Amino acid sequence: MADTPHVLIIGGGFGGLWAARALARTPVHITLVDRSNHHLFQPLLYQVATAGLSAPDIAAPLRHLLRGQQNVEVRLDEVRTIDTATRRVMLDGGTLDYDFLIVATGATHTYFGHDDWARDAPGLKTLDDAFVMRRKVLEAFEAAERESDPAARSSWLEFVIVGAGPTGVELAGTLAEIARHTLRDEFRHIDPRDARIHLVEAGPRVLPSMPESLSASAKRQLEKLGVEVHLGEAVTAVDDVGVEVGGRRIATHSVLWAAGVAASPLGRQLSDHCDRAGRVPVQPDLSLPDHPEVFVIGDLATVTQDGKPVPGIAPAAKQMGAYVATVIRDRIAGRTPKPFRYHDYGNLATIGRMAAVVDLRGLHLSGLIAWWFWLIAHVFFLIGFRNRLTVLIDWAWSYWTYKRHARIIFGRRPRDTTG
Ligand SMILES: Cc1cc2nc3c(=O)[nH]c(=O)nc-3n(C[C@H](O)[C@H](O)[C@H](O)COP(=O)(O)OP(=O)(O)OC[C@H]3O[C@@H](n4cnc5c(N)ncnc54)[C@H](O)[C@@H]3O)c2cc1C
Repeated sequence: MADTPHVLIIGGGFGGLWAARALARTPVHITLVDRSNHHLFQPLLYQVATAGLSAPDIAAPLRHLLRGQQNVEVRLDEVRTIDTATRRVMLDGGTLDYDFLIVATGATHTYFGHDDWARDAPGLKTLDDAFVMRRKVLEAFEAAERESDPAARSSWLEFVIVGAGPTGVELAGTLAEIARHTLRDEFRHIDPRDARIHLVEAGPRVLPSMPESLSASAKRQLEKLGVEVHLGEAVTAVDDVGVEVGGRRIATHSVLWAAGVAASPLGRQLSDHCDRAGRVPVQPDLSLPDHPEVFVIGDLATVTQDGKPVPGIAPAAKQMGAYVATVIRDRIAGRTPKPFRYHDYGNLATIGRMAAVVDLRGLHLSGLIAWWFWLIAHVFFLIGFRNRLTVLIDWAWSYWTYKRHARIIFGRRPRDTTG
């Protein structure tokens, strides 16, 4: 054991978990550290935020996922400092030395220097965030039902989603569906169909990572669902009673944030040359320039291939995780590893029930066929048979009934998020 190289992996997301699994047959001892006890399937987090799925449908304990892999131990802990000079990592619960370090701590959203907006405009990255968002949305309808003043009531029925990337589009489309169908007939003093869903984007189109024709199709599909899409309009102020967009004010208590990318703060400890989002530039083998034993992968790394950045998406993180495992194996065996190459299998985004867009390396699909494609891909990539089964059953049920089973309000109030 003393001679067995110690691989320390920080982060049990797509990059870290795939690296750990790919090292299963390598003679190394692995410690996988994560500050949460579960691996989270972030692509379906918006479904938890909009009450379509429950937390265990899209998350699984890391300890359980790795129970059969004898060369790995899981540690629930938060990493605070990485000292590459001494090859030591400081955690809340102690220190760990390593021979190889894989940093896969991901990224989150950013408020572009307005961190005070976080209180009134929660973002979506973790299960806790999804619960906060779900509560905010469901409570807004409850508050509208109680309110007798028409202007105040309307302000509870205005929802503003900031950022028209995949998460913003998914949230807007699903909220429109909830207002138009799910909540119909359940209230006595309001008609939930009066709710207005605004999707605000500073850039010129929705889904900017998609080809222009699919962006245009996505916008049309959103509008068909009743979403008001505002392009080229930046948010300039947010508080608990409204938001300023493109110079005018919308009175609302429900701003949901889906804009910007900020890499994990650990990145800045690893490089003085991080990009504006805090992502770490890496060598062709995903290691740090002066530290071949330290790898940075997934959303935390900035990797350019054929002049284009490798996207911050789950397949890229998984491929990087599997790749660094081969690099470690090659190094131990005295071989020279090949450089990392990202394989792009396509780009999908859902908009709502039976509405989606898919770009399969130039083959463009939209509408119903794209939605089926999106649904099958997401169920297939979910971790665990139980999760696939429960998600399929939940979706089939809500497909036929328009109902969303996870509408129980509990947990922190949205305004407690900073506490
Ligand atoms: C709402 C949302 C929707 C998305 N939808 C899609 C989609 O539809 N398709 C797609 O391909 N991609 C999607 N993505 C992006 C995709 O989830 C990421 O690209 C992917 O998760 C990146 O993997 P990662 O391993 O780099 O980071 P993550 O998967 O984010 O994992 C990082 C892990 O590190 C842990 N961690 C962070 N800091 C510390 C610390 N200091 N100490 C210990 N542990 C720490 C975290 O708890 C987490 O488990 C979405 C992301 C979000 C947030």
